[in-house]
Amino acid sequence: MDRSKLYRPFRTLLIANRGEIACRVIRTARAMGLRTVAVYSEADRDAMHVALADEAVLLGPARARDSYLNVERLIEAARKTGAEAVHPGYGFLSENAEFARACLDAGLVFVGPTAGMMTAMGSKSGSKELMEKAGVPLVPGYHGEAQDEATLSKAAEKIGFPVLVKASAGGGGRGMRIVRSAAELGVAIVSAKREALAAFGDDRMLIEKYVDNPRHIEVQVIGDSHGNLLSLFERECTLQRRHQKVIEEAPSPTLNAAQRETVCAAARKAAGAVNYVGAGTIEFVSDGKDVFFIEMNTRLQVEHPVTELITGIDLVEWQLRVAFGEALPLKQDEIRLNGHAVEARVYAENPTKNFMPSVGRISTWRLPAETGGLRIDAGYREGDAVSPYYDAMLAKMIAWGPTRDVAIERLNRGLEETDVRGIVTNIPFLSALMTHPKVWTNAVDTGFIERELAVLTQAAPAPGELELCAAVAAVVNEEQQAARAQANSPWQTFGWQPVGRRQRSFAFRVGHGVGHGPEQKISLNYGSGPSTLLIGERELAFTIAAKDGGFDLTLDGVKSSVAAVIDGHELYLRTRNGRFDLHWVDPFGGESEEHVGEDKIAAPLPGTVVAVLAEEGAKLDKGAPILTLEVMKMEQTLRAPYAGVLKSIKCKVGDIVQEGVELAVVEPAGD
Ligand code: ADP
Ligand code: ADP
Ligand code: MG
Repeated sequence: MDRSKLYRPFRTLLIANRGEIACRVIRTARAMGLRTVAVYSEADRDAMHVALADEAVLLGPARARDSYLNVERLIEAARKTGAEAVHPGYGFLSENAEFARACLDAGLVFVGPTAGMMTAMGSKSGSKELMEKAGVPLVPGYHGEAQDEATLSKAAEKIGFPVLVKASAGGGGRGMRIVRSAAELGVAIVSAKREALAAFGDDRMLIEKYVDNPRHIEVQVIGDSHGNLLSLFERECTLQRRHQKVIEEAPSPTLNAAQRETVCAAARKAAGAVNYVGAGTIEFVSDGKDVFFIEMNTRLQVEHPVTELITGIDLVEWQLRVAFGEALPLKQDEIRLNGHAVEARVYAENPTKNFMPSVGRISTWRLPAETGGLRIDAGYREGDAVSPYYDAMLAKMIAWGPTRDVAIERLNRGLEETDVRGIVTNIPFLSALMTHPKVWTNAVDTGFIERELAVLTQAAPAPGELELCAAVAAVVNEEQQAARAQANSPWQTFGWQPVGRRQRSFAFRVGHGVGHGPEQKISLNYGSGPSTLLIGERELAFTIAAKDGGFDLTLDGVKSSVAAVIDGHELYLRTRNGRFDLHWVDPFGGESEEHVGEDKIAAPLPGTVVAVLAEEGAKLDKGAPILTLEVMKMEQTLRAPYAGVLKSIKCKVGDIVQEGVELAVVEPAGD
């Protein structure tokens, strides 16, 4: 087919994907002046990619096969919006030759290779046969047609154990089993076939020698429709869990310059064998010395940003220019490698619970600024829901530096300064990984994470003096903020000091909910004179200065930054020692969930109203402070039991109120 018919200029691009990659593609497409069309499922009505695009089309129900994998609906969405081209992203239909063909048949430009190239490279066995002919080094193995047990076990014996049994149609690490002896082979093949049939509708297997201490090295390639083909250096993705990448970097810290040129030349040869058009990745497994071809991915890869950061090339822009039918703007010897880049995949999952996906609403989403070499490609925002229907990747954090050490340091810092609440993320695990001395020295292989799992998922440190003080400071800071927002409050001028010296006692427990372990007690002394904190016999002078997302806490003359989120009695703190979840033990109530969730805002004991912290009619988040009572020289702030509107305040500052008297009414927010 005439390539000028396949690749030609267009103005409107439909992105057949969701999440981070849809947002990433939209960003560049818009910068190039294209009109963008998003597609979404019923679960994604309010998703970030929908908000970013110029137009959006509902595909269908949440299940991928009813929405993002529904070819007919996608083509229909393009027709409805006048889209002239389709970018498939990664995952979903990105390597589906039938989808590429359906786009062509509907008169759409497919941003990627032709269906023919995908078919040739899509199967691991087929591509290995091609590579064998092209003289690209392969892992010794069997990738023939015959699939009977006798043939497969004979092949495995000949290759020599350990071997890797792989689904020819596989992806995402599925349908793959390491087999260490002949006795295990039969069972492994049966279960790999079952998994492959369910996941890919194809249970053909191939067998490879399992490379010892394997490293994953891959080369980014891109070709245009004029016969030009470039390699854009390699990436190393050896830090994997269950054959899935966790950390990726470019260039590979394992290769020297000569080895780099060898692997890049092999990749160009591999892609050249099919006259490849578009962005693609040639994947190799390496024993640290030689590299062996394992597969080609005929699409943009999750980890493409590390290549972008070391080459200064926007790969999505180049993909789109190739799809316009343009020639690649640079020659091979004009591609320069500059510095080092590392990427971490941020997932909604719980590493301490076997990486179980975590679903729910993202209540806090605070990421550091994208400065100083840091880049963040996100698919979610604060308030977004993470649904159970799709891949749990939330974002990617990528850092560039002139050297590998600097890049890792910057990534670490970026991870450290990220606060996500509402769902569980793998960020602490990523931090542990990136600070592991063996990662710094590149003394790793693909089994590293599994072996070091206990170290990498260690429990958070116990809160110390700094954290207890920060917890009290967080409560005081929040109350002062609320008071300042409130015009008629006696707290309104910062440092409102009652006459005499007063003490307020706090107790905290570690963890979520009502917490666990012993109560840790700390008192706040305030009133005339400087405020101090008392832990046991120790008295510490302190001051707080509020700032975005937290405050600076000066404790005994040392200032340090604290990030804080308060949700009712749940406190989240990030100090220089790490992240801490604390439960603020209610000094008046019983310690039960019911009490925390109680609806009535009433005086728990007889007392005096000392501050009113919210106005009638104000919209309140759950846990927002409403008023402060003083009871037996101790203060307690009453808070909104749920999100809603403050309907009425039935008291004023100075009132003496009896136990059980209702002091305010909050009307719950609709639905
Ligand atoms: P990469 O090397 O780019 O990580 P993978 O094969 O791991 O390649 O898959 C790319 C991405 O697409 C991953 O984030 C994976 O979770 C996601 N993915 C893979 N298969 C599907 C699918 N069928 N539907 C949705 N996402 C998928
Ligand atoms: P997928 O399509 O799931 O990405 P791959 O063939 O790329 O499948 O393999 C996934 C991962 O498994 C690779 O990144 C590599 O770490 C590991 N792997 C693949 N083949 C071998 C092998 N022959 N020996 C050792 N490890 C391998
Ligand atoms: Mg792969």
